[in-house]
Amino acid sequence: MIIEQILKSKGRSVMTARHNDSIHEIASRLSHRKIGAIVIVGDNGKVDGIISERDIIRLVAEHGAQALAMPASEGMTRNVVSCSSASTIDEIMEMMTNGRFRHLPVIEDGALVGIISIGDVVKHHTAEVELEVTAMRGYLATG
Ligand code: AMP
Repeated sequence: MIIEQILKSKGRSVMTARHNDSIHEIASRLSHRKIGAIVIVGDNGKVDGIISERDIIRLVAEHGAQALAMPASEGMTRNVVSCSSASTIDEIMEMMTNGRFRHLPVIEDGALVGIISIGDVVKHHTAEVELEVTAMRGYLATG
């Protein structure tokens, strides 16, 4: 299965924030939308960074309550690893495992077209495995 198929079922909307949005604002959006990460975009819409709940915990641990007033640009991860719509589930599972992160923006021709979380990967990988099992049972039953 490729990422394009996952985006077709889950949709392409991605929660984004700007460099100057505060960590407090970002935490509110993550909580409100029940998501784990937000992509930080520049004026041209280019992906400049990502902030996940893990970054917010680190900032609060390091700076205490002052972390909430800090701008996104100070807390975000800048070297964002991304995939394309043509990437496979196996490829992105490897990227997430090697990079130790659970979110992967999908970029096509420089534009942000979706985001895949570890939850999406597990859901679709499980469905894929179940399909294979059903097919194998079919082969066995028909001899
Ligand atoms: P996560 O597991 O997604 O909550 O993220 C764990 C750490 O990896 C945080 O510091 C994130 O900013 C960072 N991170 C999350 N997704 C990515 C990504 N696609 N590329 C690079 N870093 C990421």
